Amino acid sequence: MKIMEKPIEPKAEDCCNSGCNPCIFDIYQKQLLLYNKYLECGETDDTSPQENGLSQLKYTVFTVVENKTICDLHQLITFKKKTENNNKVWWKPGDHFLFKFCGAETACTRAYTPVKVEKGENDSDFSVIVKQYDNGLVSSSLCGLKVGDSTYWRGPYGHYNLKPNLYEKIVMIAQGTGIAPFITIIEHILKDEDDNTKLLLLYCTECDKSILFREKLYAFKSFWNFKYEIFLSRLNEFNLKYQEPISKHKLSTEYLSDLKLSAGKNQFLLCGSQMFTACYENYLKNILGIDKKNIVLF
Ligand SMILES: Cc1cc2nc3c(=O)[nH]c(=O)nc-3n(C[C@H](O)[C@H](O)[C@H](O)COP(=O)(O)OP(=O)(O)OC[C@H]3O[C@@H](n4cnc5c(N)ncnc54)[C@H](O)[C@@H]3O)c2cc1C
Repeated sequence: MKIMEKPIEPKAEDCCNSGCNPCIFDIYQKQLLLYNKYLECGETDDTSPQENGLSQLKYTVFTVVENKTICDLHQLITFKKKTENNNKVWWKPGDHFLFKFCGAETACTRAYTPVKVEKGENDSDFSVIVKQYDNGLVSSSLCGLKVGDSTYWRGPYGHYNLKPNLYEKIVMIAQGTGIAPFITIIEHILKDEDDNTKLLLLYCTECDKSILFREKLYAFKSFWNFKYEIFLSRLNEFNLKYQEPISKHKLSTEYLSDLKLSAGKNQFLLCGSQMFTACYENYLKNILGIDKKNIVLF
């Protein structure tokens, strides 16, 4: 019989204060109910996330196996579980993990989106792409990690449920590292030959050097159901690949309205800073008349 461990109550510092849904405290309450049920009838829920190599309720130690600069703004950091066991680390498309920062004077938690480890590094568990903010407490600490350093993670958390063929089209609007959850969603849909959902990615970033997953997106172009456009906010000269859809201007609301996206069978996913998502959410809802149930914020 499967044994269920008593869930550990999160501390206030374990919450990343980003308004996640569900929050780690909701997950704790849910696990506590399951645990009480287990104590009463000796049964445990087989779908419990405890089978994952990463836990939602306590921190797991991961060692840094690589910390690679991908441009002036971003680092790609790859992690491997410190203590080997048979449980693989898994997450649903769109999920995020929580990283615990322990400074000399303060401890806190921040959310980061896992991405699959690149080929050739299969021995590792997950990577994150981190944007370094000026004076960013946790991002600076992550970017400064060295190979062999120990880090503390919990997860996965997320509210997005991907169902094949539920929508005619999924439109994703991303800013910067906000592309990370969408890459996993796109890969998941394109891998499923029976999923006919059309995908449109509108990806906003600063300049050509800060474009994440550039090669991958270009390769996805060969799928009949995937289209994308990259919008750059800073103008500079650079070489485009053959028919590479990069616009040297910001994504405008007029561009969105010209797409003539009807409310009915389309879903809209937004990921970026609060200001960015609020701007496009308002436009979709108030100008294009998209129902709020068809809009998902990450
Ligand atoms: C669900 C989720 C997933 C996330 N995934 C990723 C990810 O994969 N990669 C990643 O790099 N970040 C991601 N983030 C953002 C991340 O959690 C931190 O907020 C970010 O790293 C900044 O933390 P910090 O401690 O370095 O900055 P802080 O010390 O909190 O802030 C320092 C300065 O940076 C500014 N700042 C902080 N965050 C932002 C922001 N998002 N946009 C604009 N300015 C900001 C602040 O206003 C402040 O001036 C995610 C956030 C959420 C909620």
